[in-house]
Amino acid sequence: MNLGFNSSFSDLPTTIFEVMSGLARTHEAINLGQGFPDSQGPEALRRLACDGLMTGSNQYPPMLGIPALRTAVAEHYGTHQGLELSPEHVVVTSGATEALAASFLALLSPGDEVIVLDPAYDAYRPLIARAGGVARTVTLRPPLWQLDLTEIEAAITAKTRAIVLNNPMNPTGRSFSHSELMGLARLCEDHDLIAICDEVWEHVRLTDQPHVSLFALPGMAERTVKIGSAGKMFGVTGWKVGFVCAEPAIAKVIGKAHQFLTFTTAPHLQAAVAQGLGWDKAWFEEQAVGYQAAYHLLRSGLMEQGFHVLNSEATYFMCLDLQQSGIDRPALEFCFEAVKTFGVAAIPLQSLYEKPEEAPPIIRLCFAKQEAVLHDAIGRLAQARQAMSA
Ligand code: PMP
Ligand code: GLN
Repeated sequence: MNLGFNSSFSDLPTTIFEVMSGLARTHEAINLGQGFPDSQGPEALRRLACDGLMTGSNQYPPMLGIPALRTAVAEHYGTHQGLELSPEHVVVTSGATEALAASFLALLSPGDEVIVLDPAYDAYRPLIARAGGVARTVTLRPPLWQLDLTEIEAAITAKTRAIVLNNPMNPTGRSFSHSELMGLARLCEDHDLIAICDEVWEHVRLTDQPHVSLFALPGMAERTVKIGSAGKMFGVTGWKVGFVCAEPAIAKVIGKAHQFLTFTTAPHLQAAVAQGLGWDKAWFEEQAVGYQAAYHLLRSGLMEQGFHVLNSEATYFMCLDLQQSGIDRPALEFCFEAVKTFGVAAIPLQSLYEKPEEAPPIIRLCFAKQEAVLHDAIGRLAQARQAMSA
């Protein structure tokens, strides 16, 4: 029977994050695959959400977000990133994923090309395709994952409408330098492109370098769509509270797409996030210090066991080069064996490439876990390495 499914979805495999988390549950493995902390998130934030649930409204909030949250997002980015935003710049969405979907739907017309940098967060391509766009891939190379502006410029055609910049970048852990961002901004201006900036990892910083948004660079405010996620800012990934910041004229059209996707987002979570965004800078710095400790613990532990660990500057993630770690298995095979036999889940980078067969043999690990869990994981990964050594 022909059910007439749309092939841009029916032909898709299930996302690697769900596949690996499912296997981790089945095999009772330590889950260093999908990116989420193994803590509950800040108690004060959860209390605010409880209070909102019990004493606030439980009916539809305004479509573009509750006023307190739109104001808090604008002020937060003023304080932390020097951006000049008003509440009219902000649309609250149900997670960054919906913000991405709404942005592509609102900004792309059929046949518009969008540059995507591989390895890429897996939602980009299907969402671009469903919005009628055509993704054009430019591939970054390990170990430095630098932006090659010449290659990016070569991928721009008369049909190119936008570039997606995930900064800091999942899965590479890269935080792009000021000069790379300046170069990209120049390309956007020269070729009249919109920059769709997925900055969900902006607060998960592993170095002293502050986050610089493309939005802040000269001439970019009018052509940048900046996407954030409270899930990552506060370590509560299940909340799915996201936001888009853009020139009010752009934000308005994105709001029109959002109105028929989810329309709105749970009011008690919005209210809690509005308060949390106003917490002292010190709170966000302290949270980052915790992530830094976990990163260094896992990194040094794995290096002692003979793993070749790539450098990360931000995100919950670090990458291991299997070949340089002496492991002679494709990344996907290593990950299946690691979760089934050794009880530890990871993400093979190949699942985040347009052409998986051309991907380097690298896996991604999420280090946002308790110390004891990381120690246990190091032992299990060491056993997996031994068993699968060349
Ligand atoms: N973009 C990137 C780069 C991500 O890593 C993630 C999830 N970790 C998202 C978007 C989705 O964020 P959310 O859960 O807020 O939808
Ligand atoms: N962004 C998370 C990661 O990269 C996963 C989110 C999801 O599963 N959709 O692991």
